[in-house]
Amino acid sequence: MSNQTISITDSIYKYLCENSLREDENLSSLRAYTYRMEQHNMQISPEQGQFMQLLIKIMGANKTIEVGVFTGYSSLCVALALPVDGKIIACDISTKYTDIAEKYWEDAKVRDKIDLNIGPAIDTLQKLIDNGLSNTFDFTFIDADKINYDNYYELCLKLLRPGGLIAIDNVLWSGDVVDERINDIDTESIRSLNKKLHIDSRVDISIVPIGDGLTLALKK
Ligand code: SAM
Ligand code: CA
Repeated sequence: MSNQTISITDSIYKYLCENSLREDENLSSLRAYTYRMEQHNMQISPEQGQFMQLLIKIMGANKTIEVGVFTGYSSLCVALALPVDGKIIACDISTKYTDIAEKYWEDAKVRDKIDLNIGPAIDTLQKLIDNGLSNTFDFTFIDADKINYDNYYELCLKLLRPGGLIAIDNVLWSGDVVDERINDIDTESIRSLNKKLHIDSRVDISIVPIGDGLTLALKK
């Protein structure tokens, strides 16, 4: 026993999955399909998807935003956890992968919950603000280009209602955040956002060591 978060070995990870995953069959097939693609590491892990579903249900979230869709696994998790009238404003810059996402959303009968916006996510989020939708969203998931993470955070914070939650993916960046020899722009962007959030009094936070590290920031 320890008062520090456990290190997850392969066998502990296997045990965790075997004893907790309840992955919907549409999610499993999308994961299997994406696994064959070179970029499959961009997809969140199934236990993270299930954790996010739990967050959506705990919060009773209805209006949500996703920044970074790829083949649609995280959005499908959220869509399946939302109530029938729940919505996701989904943002991605290209249809190359979202075409796959749309097929799986259709199969899972959640296509009508997802409003897919193709274009730079900064523009989509700014448009929501310009349309008077600040302070109205319950949950946002940030998982697109790391260089814009701080922009996404600030825009999403405006769009969230007080008590709304921002989840930010890849905040431990395969451990690179602690390696001082790594100074590329993505790593620096994540480091600087982590540092900023640590002292950001507008939110309550936790860095959850699930997947590649998931920061939860609750708007006060
Ligand atoms: N959340 C997805 C999942 O679990 O499968 C993975 C998202 S993947 C890590 C990042 C996505 O962000 C890519 O599909 C990419 O096209 C998109 N992206 C990159 N730059 C973007 C931008 N400026 N605006 C919107 N989306 C962008
Ligand atoms: Ca990610």
